[in-house]
Amino acid sequence: MFIISSNHMLRKAQAEQYAVPAFNIHNLETMQVIVETAAELRSPVILAGTPGTYNYAGTTNIVAIANALAKQHNIPLALHLDHHESYDDITNKINAGIRSVMIDGSHEAFSENIAIVKQVVDYAHRFDVSVEAELGRLGGVEDDLIVDSKDALYTNPKQAAEFVEKTGIDSLAIAIGTAHGLYKSEPKLDFERLSQIRSAVDIPLVLHGASGLLERDVQECIKRGICKVNVATELKIAFADALKQYFIENPHANDPRYYMQPAKAAMKEIVQKIIATCGSADKL
Ligand code: 13P
Repeated sequence: MFIISSNHMLRKAQAEQYAVPAFNIHNLETMQVIVETAAELRSPVILAGTPGTYNYAGTTNIVAIANALAKQHNIPLALHLDHHESYDDITNKINAGIRSVMIDGSHEAFSENIAIVKQVVDYAHRFDVSVEAELGRLGGVEDDLIVDSKDALYTNPKQAAEFVEKTGIDSLAIAIGTAHGLYKSEPKLDFERLSQIRSAVDIPLVLHGASGLLERDVQECIKRGICKVNVATELKIAFADALKQYFIENPHANDPRYYMQPAKAAMKEIVQKIIATCGSADKL
């Protein structure tokens, strides 16, 4: 098996009313945990990396590891560009083997967002690469992307229809009250707006900022049309907390083959939980 676009996975999820989890990766260990758990549960999965992750680990390394893991576990994998903003960066990564991209022009005015997204779609579709774009704007922190809550904007359903039609994107990330990172108070999601967007556009819809949401809220979103659920922060916290605890208990530890194990196990529990929330087990 090998790296594929997100299209088939997301359209199947849309038709069968579940969501494909998109987990943010950072290194070999995080990729191993996600792919191993998805294979055990027979869940489709998207491995998502921000520009910071690809810079840190190296694009060719990440592509090679994803290909090797897909083959080893015999499952198709979507390796995805999360919140990429530069046309040149995206096209270079497509040339390096990536088949699923997000072009985030959500900080631009509506017409500029359409123009930059359309440019990426025109390139990506020549190589069967799926394209996600965002309309509206999520608040919070995702790597180098920091958006103050006062700059966050909910997605307008009418604009969503025009945006999808004019850009030709394959999936749409929407803003309905979620934020990247941890929530300071319980988020109030605008489910009605989600339903309106769902009736206005017919492509898969994407929920960013799923860390810390109530399971029932994520499931309500899936019922109303969300087909991809993005999770980063919860994985990072589980991994880091277990690692810190290991060093508290074993202050002289220095072998990554040992100290990485509890971190991987803690992260695996979150991956299992999110797959259960998304209803994606046995959907491969
Ligand atoms: P969280 O870090 O809030 O889970 O958001 C992840 C995300 O939306 C990645 O694009």
